[in-house]
Amino acid sequence: MIVGTRKPLVEILEMVKPYHRLLLVGCDTCVAESASGGRRETSELAAALEMAFRVAGTDKDIRETCVDRQCIHEFLLAVVEAAAEADAVLSLACGAGVQALAARLPKTPVFPALNTQFIGETAERGLWLENCRGCGNCLLGLTGGICPITRCAKGLLNGPCGGARDGWCEINLAREITPPVTCAWLEIYDRLHSLGQLNRLLEPLPPKDWSQGDAGGPRRVLRPDQRP
Ligand code: SF4
Ligand code: SF4
Repeated sequence: MIVGTRKPLVEILEMVKPYHRLLLVGCDTCVAESASGGRRETSELAAALEMAFRVAGTDKDIRETCVDRQCIHEFLLAVVEAAAEADAVLSLACGAGVQALAARLPKTPVFPALNTQFIGETAERGLWLENCRGCGNCLLGLTGGICPITRCAKGLLNGPCGGARDGWCEINLAREITPPVTCAWLEIYDRLHSLGQLNRLLEPLPPKDWSQGDAGGPRRVLRPDQRP
């Protein structure tokens, strides 16, 4: 899923302050799971904006709605209708959702209320971990299901750098990270060991084809069998 965090209220206020009628649009899937842009967070942000504007002596018309997925155009039809009354829209979706919504609203300013962080997993309550960079050419089958591109701070493909200390990645020495980051290559080793597949490490991984990643500009997936 996509993990997002809400922008500071002061930044959001600055973006929307010129507009009187505001529509907040939540997205009740990924960013709901990361507790930043779902239905509940949309209501909380609406209340916070209302309060902040009232304290500043400004009267605003703040409305809210929420869809299951802002990144899918079919879900946006009802939002487009609701946005007809708005001077500006504040989206609590990830960057993809914000852009899909903006494409549907050519005459209405659309602002992001979140900072989109990464593709990750919910490890436990209140803890989300980045674990995929969408490289377009997945090699998890070779590394025991642990992504060295994402989870090794140096993106090393053929073993550790040698800087780990007591199982922790040396990135922890450079900056404070809570909880600290383990050495991905130690995890890969342990995992392959428990799978009885340590022999995989004897074969160097071939040079990676980065052309499928994001270095070559925006990517497209076209599935002719799914097209109308
Ligand atoms: S190898 Fe690529 S696609 Fe697979 S998890 Fe890592 S970044 Fe994601
Ligand atoms: S300590 Fe491990 S995870 Fe960290 S950069 Fe080196 S090999 Fe990668």
